[in-house]
Amino acid sequence: MAARLSVSERLGADSFTTDKVPHLKIADPRLCRTCVLKPCIKVCPAEVYHWDADHLRINYENCLELGACRVACHELGNRALQWDFPVGSRGVHFRYG
Ligand code: SF4
Repeated sequence: MAARLSVSERLGADSFTTDKVPHLKIADPRLCRTCVLKPCIKVCPAEVYHWDADHLRINYENCLELGACRVACHELGNRALQWDFPVGSRGVHFRYG
């Protein structure tokens, strides 16, 4: 019987085809500055979002395309996040689903 893999091991086996154009965008950076909870940072398991002094840094290259950040931003944040899938076959390629 094959060994059971942890979530980290499964995610570590994923690969990414990065698009030059970010598929995650902020409509207006001022909305993030006044966002109290900044839930996008907390809900993303891939740690795509980081608060960097006075702005939100988005490492879209690591996005797992779950959409949790979009829900969090639009339900608990200031609705600044414009979320879309990467174009074509770009983005994450899950090895273990
Ligand atoms: S939740 Fe939305 S508004 Fe708040 S910091 Fe994140 S992207 Fe910006």
